[in-house]
Amino acid sequence: GDLSKVRQMAATAQREEPQKIPLARRKTGFDELYITFTPEQAHSQSERCLKCGEHSICEWKCPLHNHIPQWVELVKAGKVLEAVELSHQTNCLPEVTGRVCPQDRLCEGNCTLRDSAGAVNVGNIERFITEQALASGWRPDLSAVVPSGRRVAIIGAGPAGLACADVLARNGVEATVYDRHPEIGGLLTFGIPAFKLDKSVLARRREIFSAMGISFRLNCEIGRDITLEQLQSEYDAVFVGVGTYRSMKAGLPGEEAPGVYDALPFLIANTKQVMHLPQIPEQPYINLAGKKVVVLGGGDTAMDCVRTSIRQGAEQVTCAYRRDEANMPGSRKEVKNAREEGVEFEFNVQPLEIVLNQQGAVSGIRLLRTRMGAPDAQGRQRPEPVPGSEFVMPADAVIVAFGFHPHALPWLEEQGVKLDDKGRIVASVNSAIRYQTSNPKIFAGGDAVRGADLVVTAMAEGRHAAEGIIRWLGVPPQTAQA
Ligand code: FAD
Ligand code: SF4
Repeated sequence: GDLSKVRQMAATAQREEPQKIPLARRKTGFDELYITFTPEQAHSQSERCLKCGEHSICEWKCPLHNHIPQWVELVKAGKVLEAVELSHQTNCLPEVTGRVCPQDRLCEGNCTLRDSAGAVNVGNIERFITEQALASGWRPDLSAVVPSGRRVAIIGAGPAGLACADVLARNGVEATVYDRHPEIGGLLTFGIPAFKLDKSVLARRREIFSAMGISFRLNCEIGRDITLEQLQSEYDAVFVGVGTYRSMKAGLPGEEAPGVYDALPFLIANTKQVMHLPQIPEQPYINLAGKKVVVLGGGDTAMDCVRTSIRQGAEQVTCAYRRDEANMPGSRKEVKNAREEGVEFEFNVQPLEIVLNQQGAVSGIRLLRTRMGAPDAQGRQRPEPVPGSEFVMPADAVIVAFGFHPHALPWLEEQGVKLDDKGRIVASVNSAIRYQTSNPKIFAGGDAVRGADLVVTAMAEGRHAAEGIIRWLGVPPQTAQA
């Protein structure tokens, strides 16, 4: 009963964090920061789980509804291969989510042990299970799947498209994934830096997906290299998971000057350098070695930019954010890591203009201090300017990391797919055939439908869309439906 739960909680050992590589290596290279749990760590951290119920709060708060306490229980019992089987029933990239999910806002942030001994280290156990199983040669087994004879094209090899392909393959539907990039992963590969997610992780997954019968057509852009019309005639259905790629502008005078960069082209070119891939002339590698860098924004993308700048050898790196630290949208863990690596923070500042030198290049940024105003009718406090507080922060480079809007999709609209007033694809989220667009043969999910969000929400939508496709095609389901 309740009393025994309370006793159990009181007796639970403290949460343990994974080891990090040495600080000197973090500041100079792009090696992954965290080291996978050892079997001993994974076991002792699993022992802490209280197995709160058949459907525990951690599972409920996970957008994929991962069977967390059940696979943690299998790790306790030393059954890692059974744990990895179970984890793949809901998640085709557990080694990725184990690394990049904001667990502190999802499973771990709601764990019963959160406020006492500390949440169960779900992310690191998930990562351990997958790494251990894959290293031992374990692979998803689709040998019992009965082919349906149906074929689906997937546009975008990001988490939404990959999760859709996985569920289709497990239900005997042939999936072919198209992407304009030379590697799968979408923002997992060309967005999230290697120090959070090593680039070998997605290359390994590409081989695993290929062995599951999923085909990839990389370096192929729909709407340029081939048409959507062509895909519609060759396949029984199409899934669109193309993400959101229009960078929000700061709207500052001087924003077009040399030395002002958008976050994503900076991160993508850097990753290509790390991966030894060719650069494209329109988005060249940006080297910030020896520079004073100011990054505008306070989300995950801003944290990835400041930490990439440090690793490139920037002289000074400052994150300038308009609210206070408590109101930063990014993961707490990553803010702490950025500080450790030498990033400075300037909170409660509003940018006014980019200051230019005589050559017309960036020499600084004019900022105004703000303070939180009186609560409005809804009780929300907005930052308001402090009069006479303007100052110029010297900078050789300014990176704008304010987030992303949907980009234009003319090739999709031409085929009768409706977009909403923000440019997001309209898909049937709650009907029987889920994630179908206004063109019945075309389904969609992930950031392109919900707006820029998370890896795990994109994957959840890709899975739901696959279930919608299976139902619409009348294919008998061979997996448990979410
Ligand atoms: P994407 O990952 O954007 O994938 C879309 C794919 O479609 C891309 O590969 C693109 O090349 C391809 N494509 C687009 N148009 C075409 C076309 N016409 N033809 C062919 N291919 C096309 N989320 C987290 O949960 N944790 C994090 O730590 C995190 N960090 C982030 C850091 C950065 C810098 C950024 C930008 C985002 C981060 N996110 C993070 C958010 C997360 O990466 C996204 O929400 C997620 O990747 C969305 O998945 P998706 O499949 O919808 O789209
Ligand atoms: Fe275990 Fe925490 Fe989930 Fe409870 S909420 S089952 S303690 S991981």
